[in-house]
Amino acid sequence: MSGTRERTARQAGIPMRPGPSPAQMACGHTANGRTPEGLPACAICIGIVGGAQEVVASPDLTLRLARCLCGKECESDDRLPFFEYRGPGSSAANEVCKVCEFRHRNETFAAELFDPKKRRWVTGPVHDFEPIGDRPDLFYCGHDGWN
Ligand SMILES: [Zn+2]
Ligand SMILES: [Zn+2]
Ligand SMILES: [Zn+2]
Repeated sequence: MSGTRERTARQAGIPMRPGPSPAQMACGHTANGRTPEGLPACAICIGIVGGAQEVVASPDLTLRLARCLCGKECESDDRLPFFEYRGPGSSAANEVCKVCEFRHRNETFAAELFDPKKRRWVTGPVHDFEPIGDRPDLFYCGHDGWN
């Protein structure tokens, strides 16, 4: 490791949401959409991951690293686009399986796993669920455009 300190989003050239921090949803994402009633929600997780319409306290992001799928990294900040907290106590740490890195549909029957890329439940090998635990947070840096 280089030992250099993580750069802020501004230093890394990553666009930040303007204004104050958005609501933290129980699914782990910051609010990125609204319900028909105008309440904060996570459009990514609605109908898939629990807590997509439940606002929770914002996690402590001190000294946490956020990473885009393209590999770009910066200090965690809840105003990063499509930010998802994956640290202690998060849905991602507690509900994603260490063995297969998917969400299991339930804890007793492990043959059905949720594939976020295909956005559907797929059949996988049966094994016991083991939580994956703390990982770097996720965000989207805009490398593939904004549409
Ligand atoms: Zn979500
Ligand atoms: Zn990226
Ligand atoms: Zn698994």
